[in-house]
Amino acid sequence: MAKTVHKLGIMGGTFDPIHYGHLVTAEAVRAEFHLDQVLFVPTGQPAHKPPGTTTDAKHRYTMAVLATLTNPHFDVSRVDIERPGYTYTIDTLTDLRKIYGPATEFYFITGADAILEILSWKEPDELFRLSAFVAATRPGYDLDRLEHALGDLYRRHADQIKVIEVPAMAISSTDIRERVRSGRPIRYLVPETVASYIYKNGLYGATTPVPPDDP
Ligand code: NAP
Repeated sequence: MAKTVHKLGIMGGTFDPIHYGHLVTAEAVRAEFHLDQVLFVPTGQPAHKPPGTTTDAKHRYTMAVLATLTNPHFDVSRVDIERPGYTYTIDTLTDLRKIYGPATEFYFITGADAILEILSWKEPDELFRLSAFVAATRPGYDLDRLEHALGDLYRRHADQIKVIEVPAMAISSTDIRERVRSGRPIRYLVPETVASYIYKNGLYGATTPVPPDDP
């Protein structure tokens, strides 16, 4: 029988590719808010990115599965990649609410800049009805930015907006893609299984079938 999930972390991201910054963030939020499970939800076509600039969802999903395999509290969902059209967080949360039911507390976790976009887009009050939001920041992020940008919305829902500073978020997917493209190592930035997958499938301009720093 499936385990009852009282508190669910929903880790939304493009994960192009997933890296240790994401994994450390998910684990830190799980511990801080006593979550039973963290569900990684790779986006379909992100609403805020030009089509064709994001790696095929099948690769991003597989890398998320490989990266989360050894943590019994982590899982990966296909809800966003299976829904046609652009990915909007309101649809992510509505779909997951149908799966988990009304009693599970949701914590949607993503980067602070992405939170600004989600909450300043459509149906923000409905979003807060469905979930709390955890903004993960790299050290030094100006938190006033979030408060100023969200204005009244922030004041109305302050108890539903949490911020967590994660030093490992200094790792970035953009940097990893550039490293692969220019032949620099990505060891210790992503799990080894993810590095092998990237090279085996020639993602991000990889030109060798195995990571170049392998013996
Ligand atoms: P993004 O714009 O690519 O990322 C913004 C920043 O957040 C980057 O620094 C990114 O670092 C970081 N980040 C992304 N996901 C993270 C995570 N789960 N934990 C910690 N940091 C994270 O954002 P995105 O990845 O495309 O979207 C993030 C989530 O917000 C997705 O679920 C997306 O569907 C949602 N979103 C929804 C709307 C909407 O409904 N209108 C609009 C925007 C975003 P890396 O590049 O290293 O990951």
